[in-house]
Amino acid sequence: MGRAGANGRTRLPECGFTLDGKSCRKRGNHFCRQRAAHAVAFCAELCVHTKDKWARRPFVLSTWQRSDIIEPLFGEVTWDPEWESYVRRYQIGWIELARKNGKSELLAFIALYLLVGDDVEGAEIYGCAMDRGQAAKVFDVAARMVKLSPVLSARLVVKDHIKRIIDERTGSYYEVVAADAAGNLGHNPHGVVFDEVLTQRDARLWDAMRTGMGTRMQPLMVAATTAGDDPASFARSEHNECVRIMDDPDRARHRFAYVRNVPEDADPWDERNWPKANPALGDFLSIRSLRQEAEEAKNDPSKENAFRQYRLNQWVQQAHRWMPMPCTGIARARSPRPRTGCAPSWPAAGLTAVSTSPPSST
Ligand SMILES: [Zn+2]
Repeated sequence: MGRAGANGRTRLPECGFTLDGKSCRKRGNHFCRQRAAHAVAFCAELCVHTKDKWARRPFVLSTWQRSDIIEPLFGEVTWDPEWESYVRRYQIGWIELARKNGKSELLAFIALYLLVGDDVEGAEIYGCAMDRGQAAKVFDVAARMVKLSPVLSARLVVKDHIKRIIDERTGSYYEVVAADAAGNLGHNPHGVVFDEVLTQRDARLWDAMRTGMGTRMQPLMVAATTAGDDPASFARSEHNECVRIMDDPDRARHRFAYVRNVPEDADPWDERNWPKANPALGDFLSIRSLRQEAEEAKNDPSKENAFRQYRLNQWVQQAHRWMPMPCTGIARARSPRPRTGCAPSWPAAGLTAVSTSPPSST
């Protein structure tokens, strides 16, 4: 619905997204500061941390969570001529990190934002995983955030026994769906948070959600996972595709990827390599537990695989479980170079001190 400009070409309308009285004046594909800020503010002002010493404190995103993931994911927009509206550029997001880097809380916030922050009527948000127990991990965090938030708890109804959060004002809901449950067809998701894709035996649930989004204006499916150990798995093929997309975003401009792995040829025992898969180190992830697991893995080859997979986010293979993998001297398949979706540099220092500040407040 653009207007013809002086050169006769159609000029797209201004974005117009308004936050705190400031309206975005950009046209065409752009990074929308207002949309990005809206998501970030929703997290900080309505969501809270739910565990340990940070519990009940505002969920202010860490710098890497904000600028490398949430701002591009929610701030990049494109003009959709079918809807005659600006919509999010990204419809699929892939976040790949070592364990304990805050994936569950991030997915919980994203689920709640898609449920009420987008202000969509009849939004269906699905929390997907291999089984209900896994899917409930993110759901339970989201439910806790709702209960601890005066604003969210006044608007949303949490039904723990059926794992459903309902927004009666818009007729929207967030519920869990497991791959091991029969009947994954018939969903029409506005949002999907997909936890630990590495455990998916095949692409059926992913495809059911992906194809179900087709009639929505700006759907978003965000997957978070740790590396798997099966080179033929669905998750591995998605990982490979995401690596290609990061090298060449034009390959699939609707897909966002944030992949953090320690390269396979890097020294796994060198702490300076650990942040490549653990951006939360020095932030809210303690290095103490990594050191302990590294010590055990050094002395027990059967534990090295788990350390590499879960803590270094390396796509190891089952066969490696029975032999230690020296970090040099053996030629292996090329591993992807360390990368992030948006920030190519790593914090290489400062690992000796464990952060005592909350992940959010400074
Ligand atoms: Zn804008």
